Amino acid sequence: MSIPFTSVVKSLPDTIPFVGPETLERKYSKPFVARLGANESAFGISPMASEAITNATNSTDCSWYADPENFELRTLLSQKHSVPIENLCVDAGIDSLLGLTVRMFVEPGISVVSSKGAYPTVNYHANGYGAKIHSVSYKDHHEDTVALVDAAHTHHARLIYLANPDNPMGTCLSPDSIQDMLKELPEDCLLMLDEAYVEFMDQMPLLPIDVSDPRIIRFRTFSKAYGMAGMRIGYVIAHKDIIAGFNRIRNHFGVNRLAQIAAAASLRDTAFLPEVTELVKLGRQRIYDLADALSLNYLSSSTNFVAVDMRNHEVANKLIESLASGGVFMRKPMVAPQDRFIRVGVGTEEEHQHLERALIPLIQAIS
Ligand SMILES: *Cc1c(COP(=O)(O)O)cnc(C)c1O
Repeated sequence: MSIPFTSVVKSLPDTIPFVGPETLERKYSKPFVARLGANESAFGISPMASEAITNATNSTDCSWYADPENFELRTLLSQKHSVPIENLCVDAGIDSLLGLTVRMFVEPGISVVSSKGAYPTVNYHANGYGAKIHSVSYKDHHEDTVALVDAAHTHHARLIYLANPDNPMGTCLSPDSIQDMLKELPEDCLLMLDEAYVEFMDQMPLLPIDVSDPRIIRFRTFSKAYGMAGMRIGYVIAHKDIIAGFNRIRNHFGVNRLAQIAAAASLRDTAFLPEVTELVKLGRQRIYDLADALSLNYLSSSTNFVAVDMRNHEVANKLIESLASGGVFMRKPMVAPQDRFIRVGVGTEEEHQHLERALIPLIQAIS
């Protein structure tokens, strides 16, 4: 029998958006000694979060569905961001929220604008709903806000995707440049502003949150600075009518109860985030120092990874492979001209030492 897929699903290629480090570990038949490729936190979760979920596993919590309104967590987030609770929606990570956003605004043939080589998940979802994707080039290793808006006008796009700070380059944009985008946005076009790394952004002031503006949706996560990537929880900050749209289509029991408990405890742990961001800053400096020692250029980072310039994409590709077979998991940008960089994640000191031991001879061999 031919399987009665929708026409969109029928038209899609089989895709693996990300090859997981576990897949590579199976391929090399050994575990990685340094996991520096997925921008995960090397510094774990808040001790208060850890205690809260340990207690929860000893009670009825795991047997019960989570609060579908995420009320406690949204209350804490509402205090953190000084926005009403009606402007917040919690779901199983930004990736899931990107999917809901695309589903809310895109139907087959509608255009979505992104950057060539940018974080790819929005494209994955857009393809899944039959959208047309138009990508613009980076400018000087930054996402090009002017080109994104121009492309949105040209293609009558419904959505623009922008990550600030950016993954994979680690660069950030000024609040003014994003404000200017909003001024020039086509009618019926929204800005998806992915702020997965915002807690690490110390070089630029933050674009003020304005929930009266229905043209911007801001995506935040507990996966990076809060160290909870495996727990799958994130949220959006947006106009209340946009949040109402999320509530019409989201999976109301899709958030893991333990993730909800851990996220709330992390927000109450006021000491944790400053500690992590300081460790990440030190880790970035270690990577800068290593790059300097090897006479490699790098981009100043506003994230928990550093893009290091290998000058040539074939060299960069080979390096990633050699590192993997040597026990160091790392990824790199895939699209020119950014594909000559490798993306070095901040790890623990021990992971960084593994990286140095693996990287230095490889670089010496090619130079
Ligand atoms: C890691 C990452 C995400 C994933 O966030 P989750 O909340 O874990 O789904 C989203 N956007 C960017 C730019 C990322 O780098």
